[in-house]
Amino acid sequence: MSQTPADDTYEVLIVRYASRTTTRGQVFLNHHLYGEPDGPIGMDYYVWVVRNERRTIVVDTGYSELGGRNRARGHLIHPGEAFSRLGIERAGTTLVLTHAHYDHVGNVDLFGDSKVIVPRTEFDFWTGDCGRRFQFHHSVEDSEIDHLRDVHQQGRMVFHRGHEEIAPGVEMIELGGHSPGQAVLTVNTSEGLVLLASDATHYYEELERDLPFLVVADLEAMYRGFDYMNQLIADRDAILVPGHDPAVLDRHRRLDGPMGEFVAVIGGPQGPRRPQRGGTA
Ligand SMILES: [Zn+2]
Repeated sequence: MSQTPADDTYEVLIVRYASRTTTRGQVFLNHHLYGEPDGPIGMDYYVWVVRNERRTIVVDTGYSELGGRNRARGHLIHPGEAFSRLGIERAGTTLVLTHAHYDHVGNVDLFGDSKVIVPRTEFDFWTGDCGRRFQFHHSVEDSEIDHLRDVHQQGRMVFHRGHEEIAPGVEMIELGGHSPGQAVLTVNTSEGLVLLASDATHYYEELERDLPFLVVADLEAMYRGFDYMNQLIADRDAILVPGHDPAVLDRHRRLDGPMGEFVAVIGGPQGPRRPQRGGTA
């Protein structure tokens, strides 16, 4: 089959599946050092879909009923239901996992036939000894790490390292920091290059004000990751999509139809139309 011009251009769906309120002191590392008052801050939870006529890539699978229950967190919409209502065919879909925390790999079992792309560093860490230590372990569910082992044994896992093109127009870059193998994606869209930062930055503010997140495996790598992302935004005018910021859906246009309650979209047939920063378009 010959490639069409649109083969390397995608629409990016940003799906908010959960939401809660926490405090700034519980999200920013050593918040007291900044001399700023503590206060409430929203923490939303997302999965992302990268798709065009040729392929669908699901980026992370959100938290499961188990992972949510263990932390007293529910769903606005279960990620599996969101994928179904978005018409995502699970067979033939490629799954990308940016890191192995519970809120990103909770429903991998929904994609029982899919190829699963995982940073090698991340897999090795969480299937090794240190991932069982308390300060790391609270971020994962054992059964979900075991499931990643199963995926590997089934021969469906594809390991990612460094900086690679995983599909035409989609690059995956391991930055570490928040989790040992934390990865980000860049995606070519009709509105420009989208930087799916996942938890390399949870918030716009985290990156803009250089405020590391409280959950950190390697602080130097986290700061270097901030540098990398800021450079990408400066050099390529990349559109940042942070991993947990409640403002994300307000910065982009909502999907038409009932799923617009949960989903914003960048690129796709309605593009090119650059979102207005901070606007309500
Ligand atoms: Zn997360």
